[in-house]
Amino acid sequence: MIQDRLNTALYGARRSPIREFSRLASRTPDCVRLTLGEPDFETPEPIRQAAGEALARGETHYIENCGTAELREKIAAFEKKRGGLDYAPDEVIVTVGATEAIFTALFGILNPGDEVIVPIPAFVLYERIIGLCRAVFVPLDTREDGFQINGEKLAGLISPRTKAIILNSPNNPTGCVYSGESLRAVRRAAEGKDIFVLCDDVYNQLCYTGPCRGFAEESADLKPQVLVVQSFSKPYAMTGWRMGYLLAERRICERLALLHQFMVTSSAAPFQRACVAALDQDPGEMVREYRRRRDYVLERLRGMKLQVQVPEGAFYVFPSIAEFGLDSTAFCTRLLQEARVAVTPGLCFGADDHVRISCCCGEESLRKGMDRLESFIETAFRGGGHGR
Ligand code: PMP
Repeated sequence: MIQDRLNTALYGARRSPIREFSRLASRTPDCVRLTLGEPDFETPEPIRQAAGEALARGETHYIENCGTAELREKIAAFEKKRGGLDYAPDEVIVTVGATEAIFTALFGILNPGDEVIVPIPAFVLYERIIGLCRAVFVPLDTREDGFQINGEKLAGLISPRTKAIILNSPNNPTGCVYSGESLRAVRRAAEGKDIFVLCDDVYNQLCYTGPCRGFAEESADLKPQVLVVQSFSKPYAMTGWRMGYLLAERRICERLALLHQFMVTSSAAPFQRACVAALDQDPGEMVREYRRRRDYVLERLRGMKLQVQVPEGAFYVFPSIAEFGLDSTAFCTRLLQEARVAVTPGLCFGADDHVRISCCCGEESLRKGMDRLESFIETAFRGGGHGR
């Protein structure tokens, strides 16, 4: 059948289970949805205005493949000021969201059979793209190490086929920020070898412990090995604009730019100005609000005696459900059907004994969600009966 004659890599790839679960939730009436990782704030007005003005001026034609010079200069200056990163404007590719940046980076470095080490729990996209590249996803389970990277375990996974290590800090779904020790472990594993470190830093402006310093900042001398993925989606509530960028050392950037050019030519012209305006915005108020929500959810989960680690960034809380003896899909399905709360099964991130609660909704929804979760746990597992 012609339908069976597509690229075989696509038959192994599934649709995102997060979206599938969200769809199920959207068909459940009066459901509190704590699933999608999408800021509930409006894109700030100056950003929308810049896009409107660009459209009104007729900036609607092809632009440079890697983004306008103005935006790439702005990004280079922004990264220098924020974390001391040293990238020239021609070491920046403005991409269609971080999603395209991850695709461009991985497709650009991977050959079939190459191995990529990914600390799990992890954002589902990495495994999917690694699969499409016919490379090998090598998970490094961090659950017993407080979601940090254990140097010995990492060293044990390095092989002659290791091409890259992917770091996502602050992490989706755990909210964990990698410690100095974790970053040094990665450095020991990669230094002196032809191993790339892909830093998915899309949440690094949403950090509760002060300015976030990741691998790229701490190991600036390894720049040729480092690829940095960034997004406008999270810090500026711009998920629908599909704007992000990739930073890479010049010679690598030149090659990766070809791939970007073949796939998308460039990101959208009128949004270049919007992104210049975005980089002048301070996401501080949103971060304070996410922190208040995180604190509230943590307090409630602790009240339910759930095991949970304090997230230091991003907007997720990731409690363990191991004590209930159900896998995460069964737990989430029952929670949805019996209590009308949608949270994401940890299975989607490679951790079937956890669930992800997203704090991207207002206080009222969070309170309702936590009330319902609490009475579900009481009724279903602890023999109580005091529903709220
Ligand atoms: N990386 C991580 C860790 C994410 O959580 C997401 C979005 N959920 C992305 C990348 C993709 O972001 P974008 O909207 O910029 O494609």
